[in-house]
Amino acid sequence: MPLSKDQQAEIDAQRATSQSTLRATAPGMEKHLYTAHPVLDHGFVRVIDYMGDDNAITQAARVSYGKGTKSVQNDEGLIRYLMRHWHSTPFEMCEIKLHVKLPVFVARQWIRHRTANVNEYSARYSILDREFYIPAPDALNAQSVINNQGRGEALSGEEAQRVLKYLTDDAMRCYDHYEEMISDEGQQGLARELARMNLPANIYTQWYWKVDLHNLLHFLRLRADAHAQYEIRVYADAICKITADWVPYAYKAFEDYRMGGANLSATALDCVRRMLKGEAVTQETSGMSKGEWREFEGVIG
Ligand SMILES: Cc1cc2nc3c(=O)[nH]c(=O)nc-3n(C[C@H](O)[C@H](O)[C@H](O)COP(=O)(O)OP(=O)(O)OC[C@H]3O[C@@H](n4cnc5c(N)ncnc54)[C@H](O)[C@@H]3O)c2cc1C
Repeated sequence: MPLSKDQQAEIDAQRATSQSTLRATAPGMEKHLYTAHPVLDHGFVRVIDYMGDDNAITQAARVSYGKGTKSVQNDEGLIRYLMRHWHSTPFEMCEIKLHVKLPVFVARQWIRHRTANVNEYSARYSILDREFYIPAPDALNAQSVINNQGRGEALSGEEAQRVLKYLTDDAMRCYDHYEEMISDEGQQGLARELARMNLPANIYTQWYWKVDLHNLLHFLRLRADAHAQYEIRVYADAICKITADWVPYAYKAFEDYRMGGANLSATALDCVRRMLKGEAVTQETSGMSKGEWREFEGVIG
């Protein structure tokens, strides 16, 4: 369970109170505020706060005094223009603050994104919960044979059961020892900051993560991508849905130009031009390496 009854009650109480404000609010985002969207077996993503909306982007781009909206179509067109031309600072005018509960090994990948502000639950000060990520059977895959940094088919039969048992048993045994070591019953009790080193990387941690929209989209571009590890991708997917409701025009432009678009090198672009003129370009005549050519074929279909 991602949330206890008390935690859910706190969220409900927070959602039951509201304040009037002169600040811009995004109706699509209001429905997400404080709500925990479950991810993996014990994790979640929830919006704690946000600043700005689609209009804040165009307002900043035009450096306008008021709402700045010329017309809805104009605003969407401007946002698409900004995205297309990598004019990124107007997107930095929007911010989002998330509360995320995630396994430590996912947090290690996530924290590589240095442009956010983070405050993590302190396992020096507090005792970690007995909560470990144990993959669902369809997410328990064999090592990929074509990609060293990836996974292949789901494990099956006796092997899948054995692996699941190891993951569960090892986690429980480590946690039992953790609890035993920090206990002060009949002993001094090991410091929590030391006892935690016994815990495996699938234990859950939590943090508040605040980032501007430009850097959020960069994070989503990398982590909602098929090449990202499944366990971080599901968090990115959940945040994508929230972002689509928060800044619909910006998200649509992001989907079009970044997620759905592709970058082509000058060599690749030259190949496209040669192909359009009717030339049967091959990897050998393309000027690209085998890897580049494979990826190029993936882009042009
Ligand atoms: C599929 C995948 C596989 C990966 N594999 C590995 C791996 O095997 N090993 C590994 O170590 N990492 C790996 N990474 C992490 C990757 O190398 C980046 O560290 C991570 O994606 C964060 O990207 P970023 O630096 O662009 O993001 P952010 O830290 O959010 O930075 C955003 C942008 O700000 C700028 N910036 C921020 N800080 C600095 C700085 N100090 N100096 C210069 N520019 C800065 C850069 O332009 C950067 O692109 C992987 C990432 C992905 C998505």
